[in-house]
Amino acid sequence: MNKQSAYSILLFYKYVNIPDAQQFAQEHLDYCKNLGIKGRILIADEGINGTLSGTVEQTEQYMHDLRQNPLFADIVFKIDEADGHAFKKMFVRYKKELVTFRVDDKDLDPNTLSGKKLNPKQFYEQLQRDDVIVLDGRTGYEYDLGHFRNSIRPDVESFREFPQWIREYMSEHKDKPILTYCTGGIRCEKLSGFLLKEGFQEVYQLDGGIVTYGKDPDTKGRLFDGKCYVFDERISVPINHTDEAIIVGRCHHCGKPSDRYMNCANDACHRQHICCEECDSMHNGYCSEQCASL
Ligand SMILES: [Zn+2]
Ligand SMILES: [Zn+2]
Repeated sequence: MNKQSAYSILLFYKYVNIPDAQQFAQEHLDYCKNLGIKGRILIADEGINGTLSGTVEQTEQYMHDLRQNPLFADIVFKIDEADGHAFKKMFVRYKKELVTFRVDDKDLDPNTLSGKKLNPKQFYEQLQRDDVIVLDGRTGYEYDLGHFRNSIRPDVESFREFPQWIREYMSEHKDKPILTYCTGGIRCEKLSGFLLKEGFQEVYQLDGGIVTYGKDPDTKGRLFDGKCYVFDERISVPINHTDEAIIVGRCHHCGKPSDRYMNCANDACHRQHICCEECDSMHNGYCSEQCASL
């Protein structure tokens, strides 16, 4: 095997009722540490969501073992090749919900209410409809690094802000077909269900999310502009593998095209911002004059 890609990065989730999820999380942490993989896994009563890195052997063992559990027998893994770990530690945490989505009444259950799932090819076809509304199901800073062409940028900083934002800014589109997408698909399972509940008539979601779309041999990531933000040390991954790939991020300081995300060097700020290489050396990693002077 090629030593350069002797590691894999996995991304996966499944909405399924996990009995005694807290106990399961504890055991799963011990298991993961034993196996030697690194990453972040969330366990909730409503399912599992994780991203982790390890050698090809370790990650294959993990996928095999998880599928032995009847709850996760059909779980889908997105696999990226890597030349090392993408995380420093192994976390397995129990949380009340997999993704926090503030809805005033009962919790949304993607197994009972969710938008129609489209594979990448179907999604690509729907993207080209004249009447379609494309809604990014991620936060503003993820959108800024890359997104589907002509999609709407949600002005939210966390997923929990979506319900209010949708009620304020999306209501006029209730009669139009809505395409939703997110990184790996987990957020849209709830977001699309919420849209249906709010009275949107025709709601779709990209099955497997942007990262799956980027691996599709037919679409080759076409119509995705910029890069996809990911929650590991890579920070972003390329999606559009055609000659139409462009940079959509803009340097926070000078406004030039850039897709380098970094955290402000001031620990009290730590603000994530896009910064070109030139400005990085000029500003020493600080997001503002103020942060540099403190
Ligand atoms: Zn710059
Ligand atoms: Zn700062």
